[in-house]
Amino acid sequence: MSANPDAFQEALEATLPILQSMTKNLRPKPKATRTSLENLKASLPSSFEKPIETAGDRHKTPQPVIPITSDKDDGRLGKLEILKKSILTCTRCPHLVASRTQVVYGVGNPYAELLFVGEAPGEEEDLRGEPFIGKAGQLLTKIIGAMEYTRDDIFIANILKCRPDMPDRESGNRKPKPAEMATCLPWLTQQIELIKPKVIVALGLTAVEGLLGEPCTMRDIRGKWLDYHGVPLMPTYHPAYLLRNQTLAEKRKVWEDMLLVLEKLGRPISAKQQGYFLEKA
Ligand code: SF4
Repeated sequence: MSANPDAFQEALEATLPILQSMTKNLRPKPKATRTSLENLKASLPSSFEKPIETAGDRHKTPQPVIPITSDKDDGRLGKLEILKKSILTCTRCPHLVASRTQVVYGVGNPYAELLFVGEAPGEEEDLRGEPFIGKAGQLLTKIIGAMEYTRDDIFIANILKCRPDMPDRESGNRKPKPAEMATCLPWLTQQIELIKPKVIVALGLTAVEGLLGEPCTMRDIRGKWLDYHGVPLMPTYHPAYLLRNQTLAEKRKVWEDMLLVLEKLGRPISAKQQGYFLEKA
């Protein structure tokens, strides 16, 4: 009997949201994960290759295809695809593999000049497979918009690509441990080497410490240029911090960091942009 690729793909796509819902609502959690499905998909003939979508994805407007011209494609797309497959099936941290719904690879433009780096996926990101989609993510999207970019122009990734596990029956998110970030960091480093951003923005102290591999204080480093493997690195507050501290002064600090980023990238900065979050005289 010959297999029907479309029917099989449809079955996979129908199964995923059910598993995600079970993962969210049931204790103990089901053992099947997105990684299991990715492994299953990887075992199929190439004609089955089609991205697995979440239920939410099916209601989204299709993402614009990033134009690939022969003079622009330097081979990174193929290399990133191979890297993505390795990351999505990574099992270096058994305790995180046991608790994750899926690996959160990152999202955005493989030719991005600007890369935002966070610390780790939270509960919502773990379920949806995309970084920065909760309330903090929505604020990040607004910051990106104020910089005159869209999420499709830049790239967003985390240092830790699996959600930090939580004690049984506890919800919420925990900070990734230094050892966990050190284990996962080589994946991000490879993404950076292939994407070749001109600037990296580290969102929050944990992200900075994860990149640099050493403790630091936000007071000393925020708004000052650092270096990550030759790429200028701007540390700024995590958007979640701004949600907790909604003063004009704190918003202005982050915005001034973003103005430095725009300046470094050689982007035009309008008078309106210069004036965002300034105290009215
Ligand atoms: S956190 Fe990173 S290194 Fe650990 S299992 Fe996930 S992808 Fe692999």
